[in-house]
Amino acid sequence: MRRADGNVRSRPMRAGIETYLAPLLRVTALTPRMLRLRVGGESLRGFAAGRCADERVKLFFPAPGERAPVLPEIGPTGLRYPEGAQPPHARNYTVRRFDPDTLELDLDFVIHGAGRACEWARRARPGDLLGIAGPAGGYTPSAAADAHLIAGDETALPAIATIVERLTPGARARVIVEVAGPEEEQPLDAGPGVDVTWVHRGAAGWRAPTPLERAVRSVEWPGGVVHAWVAGEAGVVRAIRRHLRDERGLGREALDASGYWRHGMTVEQWVEAEGVEYAAEERDE
Ligand SMILES: Cc1cc2nc3c(=O)[nH]c(=O)nc-3n(C[C@H](O)[C@H](O)[C@H](O)COP(=O)(O)OP(=O)(O)OC[C@H]3O[C@@H](n4cnc5c(N)ncnc54)[C@H](O)[C@@H]3O)c2cc1C
Repeated sequence: MRRADGNVRSRPMRAGIETYLAPLLRVTALTPRMLRLRVGGESLRGFAAGRCADERVKLFFPAPGERAPVLPEIGPTGLRYPEGAQPPHARNYTVRRFDPDTLELDLDFVIHGAGRACEWARRARPGDLLGIAGPAGGYTPSAAADAHLIAGDETALPAIATIVERLTPGARARVIVEVAGPEEEQPLDAGPGVDVTWVHRGAAGWRAPTPLERAVRSVEWPGGVVHAWVAGEAGVVRAIRRHLRDERGLGREALDASGYWRHGMTVEQWVEAEGVEYAAEERDE
């Protein structure tokens, strides 16, 4: 299991994962609560994105007052920090887009208000430095499925947008995204067989069952072999996973469900409290 200090023991690291120190190039507000940060250029030479649809990186944020974060080394079984070094704040984010010609990487940050990653993104200016390890991830929409169910909250939206773009032409999919309100909706590049539903959290907050869970439970179930991809707040994802497994009968091979964050807990508190493997994507599974 991953330790809260970021060091990982046991299974081998995935091939192709490297560390980079990349400058911020540009910040664009996509919605009131979502910022797109473009990073990279020459510093990302060798970054090998594009192997799957929910590709992610681990980001390392500079400590307050520091220009650059301490970067880990990539060891055979995980990330290793130099002896005595204080590991930086590290969080997973999705590769929204990577341009192999310009070596520019787009990362979309939810500005949720309380965390160091989110706060760094809110204050970041061109030239600021961000540490990156990756890319990793493993989901590609299966051509064996007759239909896809793709669901998540705004932290999953960068992955959902990429997955929707990668569906084979003519693929049938139901996509359900929960965001705070209508001002947080984003255009998705969806084909004619893709049915997109936006649900709004509004004042309901994260009380179960959330609008996302209710929408998944009441979705008109597509016929044939269905594959599902779900990500977002961990408690919501757990409830949806249970529903899809127990009430819709989806087997493990047809269900890809990931908790991306935990309401009311930092990632470190979540790892400690629930023993989750937050960094599992860095290793061979
Ligand atoms: C594989 C993967 C891919 C991800 N991709 C993205 C992505 O592309 N874009 C993105 O924005 N996030 C993404 N996330 C989620 C992101 O890593 C978490 O939201 C993370 O907790 C943010 O770190 P932080 O330092 O801001 O807050 P933390 O220190 O982790 O938490 C501080 C407080 O903020 C709360 N909090 C954290 N995230 C949210 C949120 N979204 N809404 C409301 N409260 C929150 C916590 O519950 C805690 O109370 C991804 C996570 C994973 C595992």
